[in-house]
Amino acid sequence: MTSILPGDIKKTSMSNSISVLTELLQIFPYWRPQMYFKASLTALSHAIEDQILAGSGYPLVIASFQKERFYRQEAQRYRRIAQKTNQVYVLTVPEIDFKNSSELYEKIAFESTDSLVQEWNLIVIAQDYASCLVCQERIGINHNDTYNNVDSAMDNSRRFDGIWTFDRQVSQHAADTLLRRILTYRPELKTKIKQARQEYLPVTILKQREENLKQKEINNSTWDCPDRYPEPFVQRLVSYLQAGQYELLKANRSLASKEHKERLINSVTSAIRRSLDPEEILHLAVQKLGEGLGGCRCLVYRCQETDSTVTIQHEFLSAGITSLKGKTWPLHNNPLFQEVIELRDALMVEDANNDPRIFNKIKSNSDLKSLQNLIIKCSISSWLLVPILYRGRLLGMLELHHCGPNPADWRDEDVALVNAITTQIGVALIQAEAYANLQDLNKQLEALDHTRSNLVAITGHELRTPLSTIQICLESLATEPDMSPELRQVMLNTALQDTERMCKLVQDFLTLSQLESGRVKWHTEPLNLAECVELSLSNVRSRNRNSNLPNIKNLVTSELPLIQVDGEWLVELLAKLLDNACKFTSSKGNVTIEVNSTDSNSLEVTVADTGRGIEPNCLETVFDRFYQEEGALRRSTGGTGLGLAICRQIVQGWGGKIWAESEGKDLGSQFHFTVPIFLKTTPCKTNKKTSSTKTSK
Ligand code: ADP
Repeated sequence: MTSILPGDIKKTSMSNSISVLTELLQIFPYWRPQMYFKASLTALSHAIEDQILAGSGYPLVIASFQKERFYRQEAQRYRRIAQKTNQVYVLTVPEIDFKNSSELYEKIAFESTDSLVQEWNLIVIAQDYASCLVCQERIGINHNDTYNNVDSAMDNSRRFDGIWTFDRQVSQHAADTLLRRILTYRPELKTKIKQARQEYLPVTILKQREENLKQKEINNSTWDCPDRYPEPFVQRLVSYLQAGQYELLKANRSLASKEHKERLINSVTSAIRRSLDPEEILHLAVQKLGEGLGGCRCLVYRCQETDSTVTIQHEFLSAGITSLKGKTWPLHNNPLFQEVIELRDALMVEDANNDPRIFNKIKSNSDLKSLQNLIIKCSISSWLLVPILYRGRLLGMLELHHCGPNPADWRDEDVALVNAITTQIGVALIQAEAYANLQDLNKQLEALDHTRSNLVAITGHELRTPLSTIQICLESLATEPDMSPELRQVMLNTALQDTERMCKLVQDFLTLSQLESGRVKWHTEPLNLAECVELSLSNVRSRNRNSNLPNIKNLVTSELPLIQVDGEWLVELLAKLLDNACKFTSSKGNVTIEVNSTDSNSLEVTVADTGRGIEPNCLETVFDRFYQEEGALRRSTGGTGLGLAICRQIVQGWGGKIWAESEGKDLGSQFHFTVPIFLKTTPCKTNKKTSSTKTSK
């Protein structure tokens, strides 16, 4: 017994790209191949093999299997068949250890490029009967079937085209074709094959074949044998089996699609629910969805209805598709996006190059051009947009792009699937948002708690200090009747000053808490800024009647446009800034107030001084409550440390900005803030102010 090693598979000189079926149909062109499911072929093959095992004589048996694993399932049967006859040939492409050998029967390992890889052939030629099953698998349908699910049910539904017959002549020709193929792989079997030919294939057949192939024309009558079809009853039985198989295939497909859908939804849901980070949720969703749906390009982004563009951050691409990551994606000028917003539902565009929604809805030519360019640049042939909604609120969008020459074959089930997934994404995003809000709230609460403790400490200190002074003064006045009138006056003045300071602190404190709580009703009106500046200056002057104020230059002219703010709060703000400027500048220094117009909507007011200045790292913190350069609990200059915090609240109240600038210690400071200009079209808000709106007045 000779055995040939796997490496010995000989390269065939002739081309084996033509299937046995094609060769057979060249000889018998009037034969029409029929469609067979794999399950039917298995049944037919088993029946033919059983016939060999049950029959007498020594038939010629040639079987070709598409894969070694299919052969392995039948190996036991072929060992039994080999006990009946020594003319058994089994062909397959090696996967594990199948190799050319001559043990119980002849094994022929063919190359993976041989057309036999796609074929299912079983030929039996016995003395009293012949049978021939020659089939070729339909490429494309079988392997790319629903969601590539190749479980055993789907495997049984693989489709073949072929001929099944008991016709001796057809069987002999099929055997002849396969024996020729075997010889190209195992030339050493020449003698054995010659014997087979002599015994099973009449010379006339071989001659006729050559002639027919030369002429490429067949005289049908030559081959018109009454037994070329199997019995009608058997034929019908096979047809019924096939029909049953077809029903099974349909049921399997729908089951597989449902199972796939559930699996995909579960996998996306469980992945995204594990995270509370919106970006991570979108990243996971787009990956899982892209892998599960197998589209060309899948995009997920967060957006609002009013957004004009979005930057693409999360995408899934199949090989060879252009990436859009980091690119600006149009929303406002995209009629498809606008329609999804209107519909509040998914939108499928089968043919992006000819969809009327794109071309009819765009008003401007430039918009149309830019969208067409986008379609071309991104090679979008079909487009699916599904909104991510939560209780009607748009949270984002999911897009599927099919890129390629032909439109995509998206079905309603696919759209329903994507819809179901976007619902899950919406829930996950809301969950993440709620968590983020909760965290924010926690931080705010912590900050509030911290502030509250600080406030208690600082306010306690700020109130206790003047209170102690007042107490000492009053006690001295009460217990020492002999006190000189001058000292008595000093005592009274000190007590009065500290009472005033306490009053101011309480007032500022109430004003600030009112502003911070948002309970202030703003009484905005068109105002002349110069008048407000004058008013605040006279307040400052009257408050500081007895002190030596620095030189104050008012550079604000009345030609400025009217402003639109609450006048009383503006005067309060200006007075506080001017008070500070005077307080921190020596009487020899200067304080200037001026106005610049920054843009057509607002004016910028600047209160500048040449005083003690502010360290650069304190320019922000001076606006914090109770900030004082000396430290809140070691206050030396007058003041409450609440003035600038109040100023910031006032400016923010009209949507303006306030900031401080200084070159540093002893180099003076400038405080800037913006006020809105009165626009004639702006309706004038005249909320009625209650007496409690300004406790500081
Ligand atoms: P205060 O009642 O202490 O003036 P503010 O909130 O008005 O409270 O000011 C906070 C702190 O900011 C002041 O104590 C001072 O240290 C600093 N500051 C405010 N205005 C000026 C200024 N014009 N020049 C220098 N420092 C200033």
